[in-house]
Amino acid sequence: MPDTSTTTVSIIPLDSYDDPALVLAALREGLRPFGGMAGIVQPGQRVLLKPNLVAPSKPQLAVTTHPEILRAVIRLVKEAGGIVGVGDGPGVGDTRSAAKGSGLLDVIKDEGAELRDFLDTHTFYNEHNRLAKRIDLTSHLLDSDVLITLPKLKTHAQMAYTGALKNQFGLIPGSAKGQFHFRFQNRDHLADLMVDINRTAKPALAVMDAVIGMEGPGPSGGTPRKIGALVVGTDLTAVDVVCCALIGLSSHSVPITNAARRADYGVCDLERITIHGAGIESMRVPDFELVRAPSNIMRILPLPRFLLRWLRRQIAPKPVIISDRCIHCGRCRDGCPVTPSAINPMLPPKQSLNDRSCIRCYCCHEFCPVKAIDLKRSFLDRVLHLNALGDFGARMFGRLVVYFDWRNLRHRRRRKP
Ligand code: SF4
Ligand code: SF4
Repeated sequence: MPDTSTTTVSIIPLDSYDDPALVLAALREGLRPFGGMAGIVQPGQRVLLKPNLVAPSKPQLAVTTHPEILRAVIRLVKEAGGIVGVGDGPGVGDTRSAAKGSGLLDVIKDEGAELRDFLDTHTFYNEHNRLAKRIDLTSHLLDSDVLITLPKLKTHAQMAYTGALKNQFGLIPGSAKGQFHFRFQNRDHLADLMVDINRTAKPALAVMDAVIGMEGPGPSGGTPRKIGALVVGTDLTAVDVVCCALIGLSSHSVPITNAARRADYGVCDLERITIHGAGIESMRVPDFELVRAPSNIMRILPLPRFLLRWLRRQIAPKPVIISDRCIHCGRCRDGCPVTPSAINPMLPPKQSLNDRSCIRCYCCHEFCPVKAIDLKRSFLDRVLHLNALGDFGARMFGRLVVYFDWRNLRHRRRRKP
């Protein structure tokens, strides 16, 4: 039977972070269809706020959730009677240094919230997950009644887009994320894992910082770009679908929204989403610089694994160190999930990447503090990227992938009586 469920997503215009009162008013308006914050948080509940705190990066660089968005959410949660903790598992440094460097720590202290590091984990089980029924996530989920996610709208070199669903990848402590990059080298599989994480952690609300987003080679190396909106919703898939539309990206060409579609997680079609506030057309940024996601042709080709790996290396962009920008901090080498590291900034430029062992996860690109890693696109990548197919083509390709995906085939066979 076709899914006919619907949901509401708020798009509230917000020009800047300058006036905390305006940010608060925008958030109140965004929450109106959901009964305000009182519709999400009951008095006495412990609430975990999960901003995007990928690295200690200044707010004006648009890498992390802006401190004023966090301030507004803390205030409304406290007004509703909630007890607030704020945490993330950053890829670079520890939670405290990332919170300090991105300006969030001052807000957490000012507003009387508590900082939570994500060092300890607990194994959570969810029988409805597709890829990983058991996942080790921060143990702070155990002592929280409500999880609210505060993502930043950005492009992403590996996953094309990062927003509400992807933000929960940070529930995995920093260093442990590398294992998952290594285990799920196909980005569609990584996207399936991210949906599993969401199904397990059950975030109740997303408050998307889309005031100033990031375009180009995100999530850290791109360029800040004004979108001018706060996007709020209780269905995270729908929030992502709406945000993709705001930047002119077909959600059918985004691995994580496609994974949500495969897993029947949330409302995936714009037609079934009621918009509260400003319309998508009036808020759309016409020339947002997107990351062209390479078409994941590997998933449907019946080739042996070693050939698929070779083909992937030929198609996926290659990280290249720009030697005159590199400050030799070693973050790229230390953050590489491959052992031994596939990248070594101490070697001459032509030898700095082990092309055979590099799994194209782009953690190095994400962790570089000075944008000294370029992602060099191959000729095949330019020819095969999904966005070139347009929305209709992306839909058709997405359906083909779902139909021919070996994993799905095996799954369907297992389910047959
Ligand atoms: S992270 Fe960037 S600056 Fe640091 S060593 Fe690597 S390429 Fe150089
Ligand atoms: S070199 Fe960069 S892209 Fe390649 S595996 Fe290491 S972190 Fe990932």
